Amino acid sequence: MVGSMDTITSVREMIEWSRFQISCRKDTGFVPTMGYLHDGHLSLVNRARSENDSVVVSVFVNPTQFGPNEDLSVYPRDPDGDSAKLEAAGIDVLFVPEAGELYSPSHETFVELERLSRHLCGKSRPLHFRGVATIVLKLFNIVLPTNAYFGSKDYQQLQVIKNMVRDLNVNTMVIGCPTIREHDGLAMSSRNSYLSPDQRKQAICLYDALMIARRLFAAREPDPNAYLQAMKSRVLSEPDALPDYISLVHPETLENLTTVNYNALAVMAVRIGKTRLIDNMLLAEPASRNQ
Ligand code: AMP
Repeated sequence: MVGSMDTITSVREMIEWSRFQISCRKDTGFVPTMGYLHDGHLSLVNRARSENDSVVVSVFVNPTQFGPNEDLSVYPRDPDGDSAKLEAAGIDVLFVPEAGELYSPSHETFVELERLSRHLCGKSRPLHFRGVATIVLKLFNIVLPTNAYFGSKDYQQLQVIKNMVRDLNVNTMVIGCPTIREHDGLAMSSRNSYLSPDQRKQAICLYDALMIARRLFAAREPDPNAYLQAMKSRVLSEPDALPDYISLVHPETLENLTTVNYNALAVMAVRIGKTRLIDNMLLAEPASRNQ
């Protein structure tokens, strides 16, 4: 029923709630977020709502996944707006832990994936996926979810979490959900709020570059360099755009492809001014805007 959302800030209380759900044999769907919620987040919430007895959403800006010169201190926040959106979406629990509750001063344990976290975003953000895997495992241990929902927009993150759950026998099903886009194709992201109106127009170069890759794939172009050159040239046509990486990789291993045949992921991180945006598209499926 809409209007019966509880907000829990204590780890102990959240664990008690989760244990009670399990004792009642109820399935819990979980959506971890860093807040400043948009329709991309809400699509995960709605999917969780439709597939579980109860839904928990966490809002926590996790310090361990930010590098020293990244945007932790200025990351956008809107606690009241988030709470209103989640209440309207009919979730059961909004979990908003304090950083001090999750990381004690003597915290020293981290989850690290040896291979997957070194590719793509891991090159310029070497500790990022260690922070992501650690916080997600901690949240899973607190929320004890049956199912957890993640966006394909953060494709590498989704693969990292799937592999962590497989490798550590975590008793939660990880479900990947499609990327939700603005009308012009830009992937929704809390970080889009950093863009000036002019940069917002330039940011469409990410989606355009992915569509170029899709067209080359449809034309059965086998040479990865043909894709990379065309994508890069579209991105560089915008004055404030600078690629961090543009790659064509295997969708599971995330290793660079030497030939493009039936299964590829076009994936990129691009700075528009100071704002780093990521996007990707699977080239194995029929065209769809919601990828
Ligand atoms: P964040 O708050 O950025 O950590 O994102 C929380 C969850 O929402 C992650 O699983 C993201 O992949 C997902 N997400 C973020 N943006 C989108 C989007 N545009 N479409 C679908 N899921 C998204």
